[in-house]
Amino acid sequence: MVDHPVIVWFRQDLRLSDNPSLAAAVASGRPVLPVFVLDDETPARWRPGAASRWWLHGSLERLAADLAARGAPLLLRSGDAVEVVPALVRATGATAVFWNRCYEPHATDRDRRLKADLRALGVDAESFNGGLLFEPWEVRNRAGDRYKAFTPFWKACLRLPEPSAPVPAPERIRGHAGTPAGDSLADWGLRPTRPDWAGGLRDAWTPGEAGARDRLRAFLADALPGYAARRDQPAVDVTSRLSPYLHFGEISPRAIWHAVAHRTTGDDAAAATKFLSEVGWREFCHHLLFHFPGLPEQNLRADFDRFPWADDSALLSAWQRGRTGYPIVDAGMRQLWRTGWMHNRVRMVAASFLIKDLLIDWRHGEAWFWDTLVDADLANNAAGWQWVAGSGADAAPYFRIFNPVLQGERFDPDGAYIRRWVPELSALPDSHIHRPWTAPDAMLLQSDVKLGETYPHRIVDHGVARDRALAAYKTITRGAA
Ligand SMILES: Cc1cc2nc3c(=O)[nH]c(=O)nc-3n(C[C@H](O)[C@H](O)[C@H](O)COP(=O)(O)OP(=O)(O)OC[C@H]3O[C@@H](n4cnc5c(N)ncnc54)[C@H](O)[C@@H]3O)c2cc1C
Repeated sequence: MVDHPVIVWFRQDLRLSDNPSLAAAVASGRPVLPVFVLDDETPARWRPGAASRWWLHGSLERLAADLAARGAPLLLRSGDAVEVVPALVRATGATAVFWNRCYEPHATDRDRRLKADLRALGVDAESFNGGLLFEPWEVRNRAGDRYKAFTPFWKACLRLPEPSAPVPAPERIRGHAGTPAGDSLADWGLRPTRPDWAGGLRDAWTPGEAGARDRLRAFLADALPGYAARRDQPAVDVTSRLSPYLHFGEISPRAIWHAVAHRTTGDDAAAATKFLSEVGWREFCHHLLFHFPGLPEQNLRADFDRFPWADDSALLSAWQRGRTGYPIVDAGMRQLWRTGWMHNRVRMVAASFLIKDLLIDWRHGEAWFWDTLVDADLANNAAGWQWVAGSGADAAPYFRIFNPVLQGERFDPDGAYIRRWVPELSALPDSHIHRPWTAPDAMLLQSDVKLGETYPHRIVDHGVARDRALAAYKTITRGAA
């Protein structure tokens, strides 16, 4: 008798533990054929960016090793999944294809089509929730509608039954004997070679499920107690840095929930509540993307379609390269370039600077983050940018404009973050490190800073830029009721 396999199609769930589609395949008793498809059919703008591709390589390498060690090697294929997966079904005689859901509009469209095609072939096509605590359609307000504001959304989530406990990784997986030939990971060219710019990423990160587990363990042991009080300080390492692991599904949000939610005493309780609410923001962003699929490209507030954005590639480039003359913005942009990650507070300040001080359309910033972040995530990135722009759901009002000097002084009072990422300013005293243009000549000389040479002059004056931004905003609100 032919032993028909079950195909487990891995996507943004690159782990063995708490992986419902893998668990269901193992439970079926049939041989399991794990597959990853590098899908070229994603709209070009939203194909994984360079930093994500670097991460994906490392993550697939580790997933393949973990699967092989348990008995079911990973098959790699590239192309349009709508064609690749049915072709594999035909080639292997698979009777079922299981996957965990993604929520990006192109993914939901594709998966819907594929599910229908497979079922038409008589194949059992099933999808599972491996990526969120609460499905976007489960969380409804009293009128039965989707949410547009975070606080009521998260309260509603917390009233739902608690997410189920994570299931452990299967100890053995019965592999499929007749696995066809696949691609070689090296041939996909996901890692940069000429030039190899990924040294900073390699120093900062260990992609893969074991890396995620270690990161969570270290966060719970060392950082969680200080999380609520210090999470806004970019020089202090108290946030979890789990974002790329969550994006690629190397850890499940349920595993995080159950590791954190029942800490009910003292500082830990407050910190746990705060931390889970941040994970709740991730849920909210996915809820928004699912219900507003235009989120990555279109202003949710249509009046922003009339916003008089400036089109200035020199200013955009200065921002991208961390050469704006505003230390907190430059530090963030350089941290991003070097490590593929930026602290959340600095993401907000840097994004606000691009949108409001430079009047550049948030979509340019979104695209840059998409290419350079290892945690680039369509839902979180788009919602984050629209939040800062004021064009999104539950967004910060446009007229609340971050002052990059005051933000720096408040959240990095001793300039430790600046000294780390903008070393040419490191000898400036704390009093002037966030505003070098106000330093007396003697202080600049003593600190070895030559504005315009060792560090750029400010590319805009924040006070002037702020007034200009407010005037621009008035042009879209004028006439509104
Ligand atoms: C302009 C802008 C763009 C952003 N782009 C992304 C992105 O592409 N990918 C991404 O994962 N996050 C994005 N964020 C959200 C946030 O900055 C990061 O999730 C966070 O900095 C990751 O660090 P952490 O894992 O240490 O967070 P922690 O503070 O430890 O939080 C735990 C987890 O909660 C989630 N989370 C925390 N804050 C947010 C938030 N504001 N929105 C959504 N989820 C959140 C993340 O999954 C994070 O890993 C963006 C924020 C802004 C302002």
